[in-house]
Amino acid sequence: MMRLPIIYAFSLLLMAGSVSAKAVHLYNDDTNGKADTIKKNGYSLIFVSKDPNLDPVVKQKLIDTYFKVYPTLVKTFNKKSTKDVLFVVDTAYKAVAEASGNRILFSAGYMKAHPYDTDVVTHETMHIVQGYGYSAGPVWLTEGIADYVRYQYGIDNAGSKWSLPDYNPKQNYTNSYRITGRFFLWIEKNVKAGTIKKMDAELRAHTYNDATWKELTGKTLDELWADYAANPLIKT
Ligand SMILES: [Zn+2]
Repeated sequence: MMRLPIIYAFSLLLMAGSVSAKAVHLYNDDTNGKADTIKKNGYSLIFVSKDPNLDPVVKQKLIDTYFKVYPTLVKTFNKKSTKDVLFVVDTAYKAVAEASGNRILFSAGYMKAHPYDTDVVTHETMHIVQGYGYSAGPVWLTEGIADYVRYQYGIDNAGSKWSLPDYNPKQNYTNSYRITGRFFLWIEKNVKAGTIKKMDAELRAHTYNDATWKELTGKTLDELWADYAANPLIKT
């Protein structure tokens, strides 16, 4: 999931007035739980859990996944990404997880029910690396890239029973997440390797538009999807 960029959220606060009080509230909100700071090879992670019953094994796996995956994503996609990230595990948050600025919010309830799904970290930290800002491209594209990246760089997708779903005719690329992620894997393997990395860079530079697909692959997005639907088998 992807939240509005932090600068946009901040401007909303400005519009709402009493900025300092709300900013302080947000800060307190984030540091209410027990905070640990972990540093490794130039990267840091502040880990806040508001769930006193968070399984320490799950906590450690989230931390390990960050230090294993995030530096690779930064080096591969966007070397200007922040090296300081905040994880907050919140009992009041009911979705799965979301990224906003350099903060990733995890649902304590979701992590309790899905303790093996630690590659949520891979998807969400990719959103930090993406850092597209406001209105760079469609949401399905941002989310499809994040799930394609989870597929390629996740450390234990099999262990969390996470996989890309097979193609079926009811799908469309706008379905987002794993359905779009599998289409992107197909583009990488069957059409042109390196397309998704270039697409990510175009989105970050705000140069993405409908013509970008043809520029990068020789085909329009709809032509690519039609080819995919006709033969969705992914070359190995
Ligand atoms: Zn997402």
